Amino acid sequence: MTSVTLSTPITGEYEQPIGLGQFNARSTLRRSRVSNHLNSQKSSQINPSNEEVLCSVYEAGEKDVDIAVQAARKSFEGPWAHVTPEGRGKLLVKLAELFEENLNLLAAIESLNNGKGIALAKGDITHSASCLRYYGGWADKIEGKVIDTDPERFNYTRQEPIGVCGQIIPWNFPLLMWSWKIGPAIACGNTVVIKSAEQTPLSALVAAKLIVKAGFPPGVINVISGFGKTTGSALTHHMDVDKIAFTGSTVVGRQILKASAESNLKKVTLELGGKSPNIVFNDADIDNAIAWVNYGIYYNHGQCCCAGSRIFVQEGIYEKFVERFKERTAKNVVGDPFDPKTFQGPQVSKVQFDRIMGYIEQGKSEGATIETGGSRHGTKGYFIQPTIFSNVQPNMKIMQEEIFGPVCSIAKFTNEVDAICQGNNTTYGLAAAVHTANLNTALRVSAGLKAGTVWVNTYNSVHHQLPFGGYKESGIGRELGEAALANYTQTKTVSIRLTNAPFY
Ligand code: ADP
Repeated sequence: MTSVTLSTPITGEYEQPIGLGQFNARSTLRRSRVSNHLNSQKSSQINPSNEEVLCSVYEAGEKDVDIAVQAARKSFEGPWAHVTPEGRGKLLVKLAELFEENLNLLAAIESLNNGKGIALAKGDITHSASCLRYYGGWADKIEGKVIDTDPERFNYTRQEPIGVCGQIIPWNFPLLMWSWKIGPAIACGNTVVIKSAEQTPLSALVAAKLIVKAGFPPGVINVISGFGKTTGSALTHHMDVDKIAFTGSTVVGRQILKASAESNLKKVTLELGGKSPNIVFNDADIDNAIAWVNYGIYYNHGQCCCAGSRIFVQEGIYEKFVERFKERTAKNVVGDPFDPKTFQGPQVSKVQFDRIMGYIEQGKSEGATIETGGSRHGTKGYFIQPTIFSNVQPNMKIMQEEIFGPVCSIAKFTNEVDAICQGNNTTYGLAAAVHTANLNTALRVSAGLKAGTVWVNTYNSVHHQLPFGGYKESGIGRELGEAALANYTQTKTVSIRLTNAPFY
């Protein structure tokens, strides 16, 4: 077993340099060490493709979290406050360039640790760089207002940073989620302690080296590894953390809110789960709709909070659609993440594998029909066959709960009203899609769906310029676009009474 001892606080010195720019992720990780952790607990990193131990990573204990928070506080109150908005923007742009220069290395680490296909992993890194660069552009465009109340007062607002931001990210898009969090927080002048997911800490640790290389002052971005119940909880309960931005499950989202209430009422934004409807009308271009429905559920092995896991097809094309969708699903290449043709790699962990297989069994026992899939793929690694259920009832678990795997349910609808009702029959509201050739249908159904994003004749069309976040139990706040700046600034009102103004 190779021991990778990268841990907290990451703006410290490395004993040996990480081999940046090299494609060989395995040897890069083997030679990486950071010595300044206090906690001696380590967690094994498993390669989900073959279930073998890749390396182990130190977890940040409560003391490590405290050191990282203190470093972030010191920097926020000191040197970082003196970096101009333009300077913050330049640092983010530099970091984006370093992501691009190290694209092959970073993508290889994602494929190794998360299991995602190398082509998708490269897409993640490209999108991460775009996101960092985009927020670099925002850094010097964050402006207040002058507000006229009466002739005797001059009032203005300032959009000030919130302070030390704790950021907790999931394992499904390790560096992309990292960039969605870091970009707006830094653009707005905050400092950050970011915790990666325990299943996929490796790429964040290599990115930490890039932070140093980009020239960020010490303490501005602190990267920590560890489990949720220990490291995550220490961060969410910390009295000197001003804000938590979280992406993950709704269950944990509730715990984050509770931690805020129990500590210092730190501000909280949440991007949580989903059970998104993908709605296909009779008049849709069926080839296009099938391509997007397939991409909507199986992209990233179904491990997307916005996965289109409930597919509703209008009755006129239902049978034809199911047959054609099964044919399309059979063409998805499932296998080795390092094969460029692979679309679907393994699920991230044994826990997730077992959870998904449990849902498949539940669907079978509740009486739904398996149209295709329903079993493990191969004999090694956490691979699951792409699975379609039909004959599903609205109250079945597979129709209501987030499975987070390559499993979807397909059902019929009659008309627009029925499509909206069935689409909204969930506690979630992250995303939805409508496939139709009729613009009126597209506009009416998009307006009726209670979801933070509605795609028309496409799916998973997430873009760093477009706000993304949830209605209902899918979250609080919006990430990406200009909207994300609201998560990382607070408004200060300054009201000046003019000299000699009458007293009132
Ligand atoms: P999943 O079930 O998909 O693993 P989670 O919501 O459990 O998603 O995890 C998402 C992130 O939240 C991870 O970084 C995890 O370590 C962290 N996390 C889990 N539980 C807690 C908690 N109680 N407090 C803070 N962070 C947590």
